[in-house]
Amino acid sequence: MDFSALALSPPLLQVLQEMEFQTVTPIQAQTIPVLLQGRDLTGQAKTGSGKTAAFALPILQRLQLQRRQIQALVLCPTRELCAQVAGEIRRLGRRLPGLQVLVLAGGQPIRPQVNALEKGAHVAVGTPGRVMDLLQREVLETKQLATVVLDEADRMLDMGFREDMERILGTTPPTRQTVLFSATFPPDIEAMSRRFQKDPVRVTVVETEAVPDIRQLCYVSEPEQKPALLLRILRQYQPGSAIVFCNQKATVVELTRELVGAGVSAEGLQGDLEQSERDRVMARFRNQSIRILIATDVAGRGIDVEALDAVINYDLPFQPEPYVHRIGRTGRAGRTGLAISIATPRDDRKLETIEQATGVKLERPSVEALPPADSTSQVSLDSPWETLVISAGRKDKMRPGDILGALTGEAGGLNASDVGKIEIQDRLAYVAVSKRIVRVALQRLRDGRIKGRKHWIDWVR
Ligand code: ADP
Ligand code: MG
Repeated sequence: MDFSALALSPPLLQVLQEMEFQTVTPIQAQTIPVLLQGRDLTGQAKTGSGKTAAFALPILQRLQLQRRQIQALVLCPTRELCAQVAGEIRRLGRRLPGLQVLVLAGGQPIRPQVNALEKGAHVAVGTPGRVMDLLQREVLETKQLATVVLDEADRMLDMGFREDMERILGTTPPTRQTVLFSATFPPDIEAMSRRFQKDPVRVTVVETEAVPDIRQLCYVSEPEQKPALLLRILRQYQPGSAIVFCNQKATVVELTRELVGAGVSAEGLQGDLEQSERDRVMARFRNQSIRILIATDVAGRGIDVEALDAVINYDLPFQPEPYVHRIGRTGRAGRTGLAISIATPRDDRKLETIEQATGVKLERPSVEALPPADSTSQVSLDSPWETLVISAGRKDKMRPGDILGALTGEAGGLNASDVGKIEIQDRLAYVAVSKRIVRVALQRLRDGRIKGRKHWIDWVR
């Protein structure tokens, strides 16, 4: 099905064409017409199925742009997801003149958010904690909301946001449209739907059509052999970008140490990292300065990176749901994903439940066929990139071309091939540069100017 079959306005259809969204995903086909009618909806579909556009397009279509009031509120579990969802809404709405989309997430100062709300905006995307805070300060007005979206509702409940979610919904008008998206439908989600939704349409897109896109392998090892086995797996598959999941924080710390010691470009992501450190790690992971991210399920929540080459279960999760959730991060956008699990001889029961729940039998290639753990081969698991951070972002009108120009222009003198991904955030910009020339790049940027101004620049390590 084509987007033009949906009753969307010309500016939205034009953007979809520009973004090369050619066909509607199944969840979009089933939800957009319902949401355009203003009906309540609960939707369930796997990660990467296009749920953001499913709720964003009807919101954008129904906005009254001349009213500078928050008309749609989207609640998401983490700051990263908020930034991503807001980014997608802005992209989809870029041909709607004057559209203002705000991120109201914790982990950053509240003052700019208060100011932005006072100036007025159309759509807010926030975490329940920060939204509650802004409501209590009476700077966020919810009486005129037309639509509330609970995105990844099950994860918000897991993270203890129930009370905030309920209180936020309680302040919104009964006439609102309530949209709930969730990967799973445990009883507490059902209860929430019954309490806050009016006659919701229920849409479930079954997994089976997407799962075969992920190649699922399992290697068996004694527990003490697991670090060496992981190295052998990495040398075999050489992922440019992969997440390794562990069940415990202590394992993350230990494994990160071992991999780094073996020359692998790896970094651990723990739940107790400061938000700013987490942001830096994620920026480096997104631009491939870090190839391997090691995380627990809790710390890995909200990580949403396009195009992961592989997901590796260093420890098998205890339940099938986290397994499905973890591996859903690879194999997006029609590419074949790779999910590799390491099981110990005692994990037979876990494997069985996972295979039953997913209906997929994991391939079990032989361990002997893998290359040795110590690097006798030429295969490098290091990254060719390093990351520099610049203290100016979108709010300062910084664009990728400005940074590329500063590095490769006359003053910078570097080759374009030494410049990798450039990511512009609100107040910061991250740029990947070749490891070989990172010191030179840092010095040239510090000595020179970007857009005619001096900026604070640092090497993120
Ligand atoms: P979900 O919320 O279901 O996990 P997202 O909304 O984040 O998934 O979408 C995953 C990716 O697919 C995003 O990069 C998005 O831009 C892209 N996408 C969404 N809808 C389409 C479409 N119809 N055609 C092509 N790409 C799409
Ligand atoms: Mg989503």
